[in-house]
Amino acid sequence: MSIISINPANGKLIKSYKEDSEKQVSGKIEKAHTAWLKWRNTSFSTRAELLKNAAALLLTRKLELATLMAKEMGKPLPAGIAEIEKCAAVCDYYAANGAEFLKDEAIKTKASKSYVSFQPLGVVLAVMPWNFPFWQLFRFLAPALMAGNGGLLKHASNVTGCAVAIEKLITAAGFPKDIFKVLVISSKFVKQVIAHPLVKAVTLTGSTEAGKQVAQQAGYYLKKTVLELGGSDPYLVLADADLEQAAEICMQSRLINNGQSCIAAKRFILVKEIEKEFTRIFLKKMQSKVTGDPFDAHTDLGPMARTDLRDELHQQVKNNIEAGAKCLLGGKIPDFKGKHAYYTPTVLSGIRKGMPGYEEEIFGPVALILSAKNEEEAIRIANDSPFGLGAAIFTANVKHGEELAAKSLNAGSCFVNSLVKSDPRLPFGGINQSGYGRELSAFGIREFVNIKTVYVK
Ligand code: NDP
Repeated sequence: MSIISINPANGKLIKSYKEDSEKQVSGKIEKAHTAWLKWRNTSFSTRAELLKNAAALLLTRKLELATLMAKEMGKPLPAGIAEIEKCAAVCDYYAANGAEFLKDEAIKTKASKSYVSFQPLGVVLAVMPWNFPFWQLFRFLAPALMAGNGGLLKHASNVTGCAVAIEKLITAAGFPKDIFKVLVISSKFVKQVIAHPLVKAVTLTGSTEAGKQVAQQAGYYLKKTVLELGGSDPYLVLADADLEQAAEICMQSRLINNGQSCIAAKRFILVKEIEKEFTRIFLKKMQSKVTGDPFDAHTDLGPMARTDLRDELHQQVKNNIEAGAKCLLGGKIPDFKGKHAYYTPTVLSGIRKGMPGYEEEIFGPVALILSAKNEEEAIRIANDSPFGLGAAIFTANVKHGEELAAKSLNAGSCFVNSLVKSDPRLPFGGINQSGYGRELSAFGIREFVNIKTVYVK
């Protein structure tokens, strides 16, 4: 069986990869484990040096790696370069702070000495998506390596070229040869990898459905999981908000990575006083964005990552219109040449409970507008969702906004007058159908360690 990579801008085959055999997969797991037996005893300073090398290499190769993303999943070059720079930053961040996050913590008891020590677990499997092919992996890998773990990557099939490039880069940075290995396998094979006794834990970023299946399999073998899944982030605009600023941020957040981000703004909940005016400004901004070739300097939005994902998105748009939503912009597959995965910015208003958009994640450049009588109703609608990844609120009363963000909105990250974004210094993750566990910050590096109690009488 082969795994193929197709350019979503023109439907052309980039490369076909031969799938690893069962024997090759077990061989890779065993090699990674053998490398880990030595790696676990390296010092934090050695690990930090290697992470800094990786950061420097990422920066040197950023154009080459961004080009690869543009070809494999349609990300415009400047966005790809920014993604690689963020990967370098997360490597530097854990190089600088990892030792402090994992230093022993003394705890006073009746013992002469008692403390908590953070020990590596072993080889961790990462199942990763195509939307940020480098960032999603590096935010797992940088802390995992700093903590003394090894890593295996099963990347999304359409970005196998990115996976291979990451493995090469980690080796070139000077990490032990087998401490990080790419498995070229389809998702059907993941179950067997999870079952392998030398695989100690699993992290998955992707759809809620994939997360449930992987968690079920890992649960059977009693292996820890961290799941970063879908979201339908609500952005609430209150009556006193600066509408120009709010609309600009809402547009940016909806269209980031062509709408294919777990923390993109997806539901815009508008209180009645500002609904008309906000919608007018927002529509103008959404309309102004240029969809086209990811290599063209004028392009804001490239193609979506795959034609099947674009077709699914278009079906969701049609389903919402059939259910009563009004299409204010877009809603059509653009008439570009060849077999492509393009979709242009789309705005649907009048989304209400009972319509598919009220519950489903919309993973593309499609904004859903929901009306609320007042602030109380806006909060109720925001929380009436199976997801709970991020949320944002726009108001001139910053103190009140902060209170709502901290206490009333149900999500893993709540932002005031800003778009939801990840930052190596802050924990990142969701609740409910958006998953569990945290990545980044001190919380992230402690997910895949044995929090060990040491007691000396
Ligand atoms: P998936 O969730 O299916 O894929 C993500 C990763 O999981 C890929 O590596 C995939 O491999 C793997 N995978 C899928 N199913 C299983 C399984 N049963 N067991 C083990 N591994 C599995 O995303 P899709 O590419 O199909 O996109 C579909 C939807 O998922 C999107 O429209 C969006 O809603 C959501 N999504 C969310 C993301 C996020 O950041 N939260 C990122 C990507 C998608 P393979 O590619 O080989 O199938």
